[in-house]
Amino acid sequence: MKIKYTVAASVVIQNENGTSLRSNCSCGYWIDHWLQFSDISSPSCSVKDCNELGLHGAHVTRPAHKDENMRDLSYIVPMCASHNSQKGSSFKSKLGVTFVWANIKKTCSNNYVIS
Ligand SMILES: [Zn+2]
Ligand SMILES: [Zn+2]
Repeated sequence: MKIKYTVAASVVIQNENGTSLRSNCSCGYWIDHWLQFSDISSPSCSVKDCNELGLHGAHVTRPAHKDENMRDLSYIVPMCASHNSQKGSSFKSKLGVTFVWANIKKTCSNNYVIS
């Protein structure tokens, strides 16, 4: 699976239940995990038509992904506090959102280096 990928189109993202703001990797918060791997320094909320900054790292899945193996995988995207608090909700993403894999064993703990 990819550490990160960017989607040009608007896609369905589902905000997962039971996730925390703090990560259990060395990044600190999940938004820091996203910042480390995305190479983007000023994220905006990933939800379509939302103009807020994306200061929270939200866990999302992609229930409508064309590849079934990708549907249940947790990825991090930036969201505003309001959208991130709507656990279990589905949203349409903005164009060009970057998804960073939430699997810390395959990202941070692996000392993966973005070249
Ligand atoms: Zn991390
Ligand atoms: Zn928002």
